[in-house]
Amino acid sequence: MFPAFTRLFITTVLFSSLILTANAQPPASKPILIRAGKLYDSEKNSFLSKQEILIQDGVIRQIGPRLSAPKGAIVLDLSRHTVAPGLIDAHTHLLLNQKQTRTGMEDASKIPAEERMRQALAFAKADLEAGITTVRDVGNSGQFLDVQLRKLLAEGKAPGPTMYVSGPILSPPGGQFGKLAPADTFVIKQEYRVIRGAADARAAVLEHLKQGVNVIKVCMNTDNRVLAPEEIKAIVATAHENGIPVTAHATYDESARDAVLAGVDGIEHGYALSDSTLILMAKRGAYVVPTDVSREKAAIMVAGIGMKGKEAEDYIATSLNTFHDRIRRAREKGVMIVAGSDYYFDIKGVGRGEGSVDVVLSYFEAGLSAADALRTATYHAAKALGILTHTGILKKGMKADLVAFDGDLEQTFPRSLTKVKTVIKGGKMVYQAAEK
Ligand SMILES: [Zn+2]
Repeated sequence: MFPAFTRLFITTVLFSSLILTANAQPPASKPILIRAGKLYDSEKNSFLSKQEILIQDGVIRQIGPRLSAPKGAIVLDLSRHTVAPGLIDAHTHLLLNQKQTRTGMEDASKIPAEERMRQALAFAKADLEAGITTVRDVGNSGQFLDVQLRKLLAEGKAPGPTMYVSGPILSPPGGQFGKLAPADTFVIKQEYRVIRGAADARAAVLEHLKQGVNVIKVCMNTDNRVLAPEEIKAIVATAHENGIPVTAHATYDESARDAVLAGVDGIEHGYALSDSTLILMAKRGAYVVPTDVSREKAAIMVAGIGMKGKEAEDYIATSLNTFHDRIRRAREKGVMIVAGSDYYFDIKGVGRGEGSVDVVLSYFEAGLSAADALRTATYHAAKALGILTHTGILKKGMKADLVAFDGDLEQTFPRSLTKVKTVIKGGKMVYQAAEK
């Protein structure tokens, strides 16, 4: 409505956050020596005691007990903390902020692009301060606003995680919806790339590649439509020929199975995966991104849609039982579990960072150990994103992305997970909690 004003506002926000970040950070070249009380080794999937990490020029130079601090190094005493690789959220929607209403996504998509970018910058900062140093953003970002946001963050113009983006979701006609009100059908063209046949599927992937996406996200099923087998096969073949992965939104077992048979790399949500589909996924090396919530967040969300008393309790119990059961079966069958929050809600009291990290807690509640839960958001997620060569593990030569949680994360997982002390991204201190 006031584009000039909004643009000015964005510039001001960017500028002030730049100054804040610049003031909070030591010069990039100054070495940092971290004395960690505990350290999560995502490669061995275990917690180690009394480890030290030496960081210089954005990279982990040394790691082990009793390192000596080079001259001029900043020594960080994190002896009462647990240091882990920076978390990776493999399913975000930074450009979506949705109220819990029936027309949530339609309404959220009506706000101007400038305002969406401004919101996204705030969410990126919140994610970073929650310990998330990398995200894979999978659509609902207009027409490639995610590519713009990735650029802003990569250039250091605002604080936020390193982004990997999908661009608009490739979907069957009608987008991701059942039936839309006529006034809301705009959202399909604005937010999706509708696929009409195999040749068009191929063209869509090539268009996305031209825009510089990192991954192709497909919507396999809505409530009543699915991508045809020849369409999903053409998408996977074109993406893989060009060296990028494909991940599929699939809420039903049959659509997940069709996607896996067509060769997708991962399944998003997968609420109702059968044992036979999980076995197929394990065989083909496809991962699952279970976009679940913890019991506490489920209660807040259910209350937000007006459900109360026994109805609410039963609904939560049934949903969580289904979620937990498929997490346990996925683990049993050897399917890699990758953390992805899908947290895009505007819920009072649950900020973006907290809401995003909550998914890791949900896996812990499903029965994964602290180490296994953490691994979904580090080693596994880095593997799924194809960045395990430099991210997701704390070891010599890796990018210095790390997070320190208060206390002993292994022993007090639910409490420590949301108590972030320090976040380091690319060797720079990007967040430090205020002293208590
Ligand atoms: Zn999603």
